[in-house]
Formats: sequence, structure tokens, C-alpha cells
Amino acid sequence: MKREGLLIVVSGPSGAGKGTICKELLRKNSEIKLSVSATTRSPREGEIHGVNYYFITKETFQDMIDKDEFLEYANVYDNFYGTPKKYVFETLSKGEDVLLEIDIQGAMSVKQKYPNGVFVFILPPSLEELKNRIVKRGTESEEDIKKRFGSALSEIEKIENYNYFIINEDVEKSACELQNIINAEKNRVSRY
Ligand code: 5GP
Repeated sequence: MKREGLLIVVSGPSGAGKGTICKELLRKNSEIKLSVSATTRSPREGEIHGVNYYFITKETFQDMIDKDEFLEYANVYDNFYGTPKKYVFETLSKGEDVLLEIDIQGAMSVKQKYPNGVFVFILPPSLEELKNRIVKRGTESEEDIKKRFGSALSEIEKIENYNYFIINEDVEKSACELQNIINAEKNRVSRY
């Protein structure tokens, strides 16, 4: 029986470690396809166009909005981020699973359009630890750190909109938990 792939949506506050968990999951399971987002933010050192993000101008981003090319998009910390629709739906229809690592606003709009997805929220072990991680990453300015930590607090309240949560104490363990959630969801009777 040919069936659609599973759409996996992972979000959580900045610094909770969702990026590292997703990377570890993809390293272990090459069958899951990552959706590469478009963004208007500048690349950080080491980030590659087409791998980490499609780094595009505000004009190009607006053009994609006008052409209805996004499954969802949001303004996150003063930059635009969006999920190109075409790749996601083409991949799902081939029966392959797709992973979206997006912010909470984006996850909620995907949930409205595509409730069959599985929505996973990543939590830091504590707020103190969350702040340490944002600071330690060293890629953001002091103002950005404040912004990210401030919104993390209000974002955590949105957890009730998700199907699952993972407390990220250890990346390896969290990636296994995410894989377990995916395995269970793929065999859910109501998906057929
Ligand atoms: P960063 O700038 O640290 O790479 O990402 C900032 C935030 O934007 C993260 O919470 C990340 O998950 C989110 N993000 C990345 N891509 C997308 C996207 O396509 N859509 C939305 N809504 N958020 C995204």
C-alpha cells in the first residue's frame, strides 16, 4: 500500500537545541528529508546557501509570498523565514517523510493546513540552561540574546498546541526519542 510520507514539525525556543537534535536524527536516518527554509537573515559563519537555508532578499521573499509558494512563513526576531511548499508536498507524495524545523507561529499555521502532521516541542532542561546556551552559542548580539530569551518564555506556554514534547538534556537521547515518536506515528491506525 502506497501512502503519503509523514510531516514532522519540530519547534521550541531558541537555545533549546532543536537544530542539533534534528541534525543528529538526520545523520542517523537518511530516509527523512529536511525541508530547507528560505530566510532574509544573513548567513552565519559556515552556513551554506541551499543547505542550511536559501538566503534571499526581502524582495525575493515578498515575490514568493505573492506567488503563494510558501506552506507557511513568519517574521522571527525581525527576519522572515518560510517553508517552500513545492518540496514538502512533492516529497510527501512520494511516500517520504519530511522534517520541518520552524518556529512556533509557523508550526501553528502548518497545523491548520496540514493537521495530519506530527508536532513536537523541544524543551530545555531549565530556563537557566536555556539562557546559557543562547549566550554560549556566541552568534548573537546582546540585544538579540535578550530578544530570543524574552520570547522563549512566552513560547513555552504554547506547548499545549503540540502532540509531543522532548526535554533536551542529552542530544543523542533526544534524537532517539524523536525517532521513537516518528516510528509510532507512522504506524498509527488513523493514518490509513
Ligand atoms: P535561526 O536564525 O536561529 O536559524 O532561526 C530562528 C528561528 O526561525 C528558529 O526558531 C527556527 O526554527 C525558525 N525557522 C527556521 N526556518 C523557518 C521557517 O521556514 N519558518 C518559520 N516559521 N520559522 C523558521
